[in-house]
Amino acid sequence: MTNNIEIADKQFEIYINADVIAKRVKEIASALNHDFSGKTPVFISVLNGAFMFTSDLLKHVEGACEVHFVKLSSYSGTGSTGEVKQLVGLNTDLSNRDVIILEDIVDTGLTMKMLIGQISTMHPSSISVCTLLLKPDALVEDIKVNYACFEIPEKFVVGYGLDLDGIGRNLPHIYQII
Ligand code: 5GP
Repeated sequence: MTNNIEIADKQFEIYINADVIAKRVKEIASALNHDFSGKTPVFISVLNGAFMFTSDLLKHVEGACEVHFVKLSSYSGTGSTGEVKQLVGLNTDLSNRDVIILEDIVDTGLTMKMLIGQISTMHPSSISVCTLLLKPDALVEDIKVNYACFEIPEKFVVGYGLDLDGIGRNLPHIYQII
């Protein structure tokens, strides 16, 4: 029996088992419970990749909280920055709220920097970043990641919400490219 899978002609092997993910996600939820005790934070989950992480994490978050789901629509900008991503789907007032952004992965940090920038304009009292995966060696933007379940090397991963060409999001484990 092999634990390897193939997606879009690429080979992947199990990198983080579902049991290990579940344990770590619970630990991060405990940290959030401690840090936001007595508050009513607003979780902003970035679709599609963060759907499984969001679902599992929030089952362990205690107390009142709000959950909203957003998407980043990509389009080619005409400016020098090239691709511009716009936050869509957020229809709630974030002023004076404690916002916790839930992401699947922070790679270069560019996406997160744009997200933080756009959410800042809505005048929340705080913005925290909570990501399933962080690639510290790939990080080029100066952003603060408050909570990261796993720090991983600069290798492409799929599973547990993350895809390759739309495939792999349903996998319960995280797989790394071979
Ligand atoms: P960043 O803007 O931080 O460079 O990239 C963030 C986005 O790149 C993530 O939200 C994700 O869509 C994509 N990404 C970066 N690394 C990986 C990876 O290893 N696997 C998958 N499936 N997506 C990745």
